[in-house]
Amino acid sequence: MSRKAIFPGSFDPFTNGHLDTVQRASKLFDEVIIACMTNIKKHPLFTAEEKQMLIEAAVADLPNVNVVALPHQLTVNFAQSLGAQYMVRGLRSPQDFAYEADVATINSQLAPQVETVFLLADPKYRNLSSSMVKEVASFGADVSQLVPANIAEALHEKFGDHHA
Ligand code: ADP
Repeated sequence: MSRKAIFPGSFDPFTNGHLDTVQRASKLFDEVIIACMTNIKKHPLFTAEEKQMLIEAAVADLPNVNVVALPHQLTVNFAQSLGAQYMVRGLRSPQDFAYEADVATINSQLAPQVETVFLLADPKYRNLSSSMVKEVASFGADVSQLVPANIAEALHEKFGDHHA
């Protein structure tokens, strides 16, 4: 049976840290499905459909990676409906661990068939977050070292000449 993993996240925007996690996961699993969710509490900049298109272009060189917009549904239920046996999450810090461990525990109760797999963030990306990228981009500063090139361009278009 092929090993299918879902990598869910807000990806608002998708950063080089997310990309590194996807690249590594694509070597561990037969198929990786990136699921973009919209977390209203996190003041979304991009819609799920915009994120899907941007991420598709950013991972175009990874043949076993696909991108979907997460429907309004519990992530583990969606993972099951896709037939994914694994859920990938990245860990940058003890804070990430504390939160992710709670989520993984609930998920394992709801869907014991879906195993959560944590990939430790590369030290280069441990301080990189989507919210930091948004803040830097909102001031019109260069984010080309932090996100894939097409996403830097989309951020530039979103913020335009308006510098917060
Ligand atoms: P969520 O709202 O689900 O936390 P994020 O887009 O912030 O969505 O993150 C998605 C996943 O990617 C999470 O598991 C998060 O810990 C991980 N992640 C975020 N930033 C990085 C990074 N710089 N390096 C590796 N993993 C990361």
